[in-house]
Amino acid sequence: MNNITNIIKSQSCYGCGVCAASCPKNIISMRLNDDGFYIPGIVDESLCIECKICEDVCAFAHEQLAFEKKPIKAWAAWSDDSRVRQKCSSGGVGFEIGRALLEKGYRVVGCKYNVEKQRAEHYIASSVEELVQSIGSKYIQSITEEAFKSIDRKQKYLVVGTPCQIDSFRRMIRKFRCEENFVLMDFFCHCVPSMNAWDAYLKCLKSKIGNIAYISWRNKFDFGWHDSWLMGADSVSVTEPAAINSTFDSLIQERKTAYQSRWSQGDLFYNLFLGDVCFGEQCEKNCKYKYDRSSADIRIGDLWGKTYKDDEKGTSALVAFTDKGMSVIQDLKNVTKQSHTFDVVAEGQMKENVKKKKLYPIIMYMLRHRYSITGLSFRSVMFAQRVLSYIERKLK
Ligand SMILES: Cc1cc2nc3c(=O)[nH]c(=O)nc-3n(C[C@H](O)[C@H](O)[C@H](O)COP(=O)(O)OP(=O)(O)OC[C@H]3O[C@@H](n4cnc5c(N)ncnc54)[C@H](O)[C@@H]3O)c2cc1C
Ligand code: SF4
Ligand code: SF4
Repeated sequence: MNNITNIIKSQSCYGCGVCAASCPKNIISMRLNDDGFYIPGIVDESLCIECKICEDVCAFAHEQLAFEKKPIKAWAAWSDDSRVRQKCSSGGVGFEIGRALLEKGYRVVGCKYNVEKQRAEHYIASSVEELVQSIGSKYIQSITEEAFKSIDRKQKYLVVGTPCQIDSFRRMIRKFRCEENFVLMDFFCHCVPSMNAWDAYLKCLKSKIGNIAYISWRNKFDFGWHDSWLMGADSVSVTEPAAINSTFDSLIQERKTAYQSRWSQGDLFYNLFLGDVCFGEQCEKNCKYKYDRSSADIRIGDLWGKTYKDDEKGTSALVAFTDKGMSVIQDLKNVTKQSHTFDVVAEGQMKENVKKKKLYPIIMYMLRHRYSITGLSFRSVMFAQRVLSYIERKLK
């Protein structure tokens, strides 16, 4: 069986989980590697029939994108529902696209945070109440396996994910000749951090507030959109579990968390994630999705450019890459759209892949070997990282 060729050769990849969802023998399952990134594993290699579907659908295994089109049209956009705009990471346009497609009979495959497993995971929303859980970026790698495996390819879906997840997904629906049932949406993507960094951060958080019942990554409530990089959390002692039959009106309410830690004031998770010291090699060496490169129908993001610099409510970047994407956007009712060139809409987005900072190997080593994030050693490394970055900036 040693000569078998399948996706198991891959020890580092995008971790999109599309191979697991495509395998006709259902023998692929995702697991975390030592560096804290998802990779596929074969449950029972003797069952492999070497059909190579897993390799065909894998975006990591191909140099080109599944399809490469230039943006057709771009907008600044935001939800006209002030509660949605307030709760979402940028202007809430991702949520409004989901809501509009639910009304047309689609289901939405998006990402929620599972507090029991303390991880981000894809799930399928069939109602607007269920869709609320997808609100807000979870800046960690999402496990897609269960949701992608549950998709009925004869039904209609909006699928949202990182550009690499979406590129593989496009290959899969082409392979299975069901592309017309799907609308695909990605976002401008900085990178995903190691789950080892997330585990270390959670340990630190638990020592401060106890068992965690709610967590959020962005919040415009107190400091506005431009300073919305705020880790918010509540412990089980503060939070009632959401009732199964909660209404949309109650779920959409903005909530102020008891624990708050801002990037602008040195939050450790954001230091690790946006300090570029704990991403996967795939994001540095193999990402082919920066700026205007996408296999999706629609791309969204934060519109940070000069044109909206005074806006504190949140403005989304919105880009159509296909006629299908155009038609979904044109039908949106609850959204204000201002047409701009792509360069205006994408101002400030990365054109090149993330680059390792000097302390990357040390921090990845510490995370791999589970050094305590609360320990003096880790804090010293983070301090050294900040000092080095400061000196580097001054020398430039
Ligand atoms: C890891 C990551 C990196 C990002 N990097 C950038 C960037 O460099 N520049 C930029 O402009 N925007 C980036 N974004 C997107 C940005 O944070 C907002 O999600 C985007 O502006 C859309 O906001 P919104 O208000 O429309 O809706 P939101 O409510 O924020 O919608 C979020 C959508 O993203 C999906 N989602 C959330 N977390 C994940 C996840 N971990 N994996 C897959 N899908 C997820 C949800 O299903 C939902 O549909 C990134 C998001 C993530 C998750
Ligand atoms: S080659 Fe076919 S059967 Fe074997 S793991 Fe890949 S998809 Fe599954
Ligand atoms: S930076 Fe590129 S490779 Fe990394 S998660 Fe985002 S799209 Fe995928």
